[in-house]
Amino acid sequence: MITGKTKIYALFGDPVTHSVSPVMHNSAFEFLGMDCCYVPFRVQNNGLQAAINAVRVMGIKGVNITIPHKKSVINYLDEVDRNAELIGAVNTIVNKNGRLLGYNTDGYGFLAFLRSEAGFDPQHKRIVLIGAGGAARAVAFTLALEGAEKITIFNRSPDKAEILADELYRTVGCDVEADGLNSDLIDAELALADLLVHASPAGMFPNCEERPPVNTEKFKGGLLVCDLIYNPLKTRLLREAEKSGCRIFNGIGMLVFQGALAFEIWTGQPAPLHIMRAAVEKALFNNF
Ligand code: NAP
Repeated sequence: MITGKTKIYALFGDPVTHSVSPVMHNSAFEFLGMDCCYVPFRVQNNGLQAAINAVRVMGIKGVNITIPHKKSVINYLDEVDRNAELIGAVNTIVNKNGRLLGYNTDGYGFLAFLRSEAGFDPQHKRIVLIGAGGAARAVAFTLALEGAEKITIFNRSPDKAEILADELYRTVGCDVEADGLNSDLIDAELALADLLVHASPAGMFPNCEERPPVNTEKFKGGLLVCDLIYNPLKTRLLREAEKSGCRIFNGIGMLVFQGALAFEIWTGQPAPLHIMRAAVEKALFNNF
């Protein structure tokens, strides 16, 4: 029951109706018997500054930020952690007595999933990354900082891939290359790669028959293929990669681990991962 003492956490984005974060965090609060509540708010672009001020004024304890505000929100915070600054995006805010501190838990979420669920250590590995948006940036910086041997970035807009590659090279010193979505070049890189990360919305509901321009029949068996999409649970890319003998994972692991780190930053308590994952899976299976 919500009382005068209930601590409020929030999600700001546009849209927010599709998000499974409220189900994930409220299940965790309930399981741990915490007097806390997580509420989604649709915040349009022109309302972001007012919404962030409201966090201070109304004493909201923590906020998740989603599309389209992850970059612009940085302008309204008091402090941004080094990792979020490198990535250039914040997805988690904690309110410390009116001071708002920004973090990015997406990269950590991907790494924690990669290590614990896929059993993959990125150090000295060759990685192909498709996409150069917010999620791709978080994944790219995290893998580079973890000692990846080479990251090749392919993106629909090649200039965005080149900007990201340049930043990675300058700040982390990683071996990087960038290009547009050229299927021959992607094939050639994949022949040498250990991991393919798909970080574009191609194939996401309702466009389930889309996939990035790759020749999945040429994928080598044993290649690890991670699609950050979790709706549908198995994208066309993953279905085809599985047929070629690849190990495949969807985006649920990253989603749950990024949420778990946000939960821990806010509450100082270990997140009940199994409860959060079960809540997410139930919501996605039931399609809300
Ligand atoms: P974003 O910042 O909007 O970036 C989207 C990227 O995908 C851009 O590089 C864009 O290329 C490219 N793109 C967009 N539509 C495309 C298409 N039809 N074909 C090929 N490329 C396309 O989005 P984001 O936040 O990075 O999200 C990317 C994906 O990751 C989404 O599917 C999202 O659901 C997923 N995601 C998952 C998690 C998780 O926890 N599992 C977390 C965050 C995001 P241009 O540069 O040309 O525009």
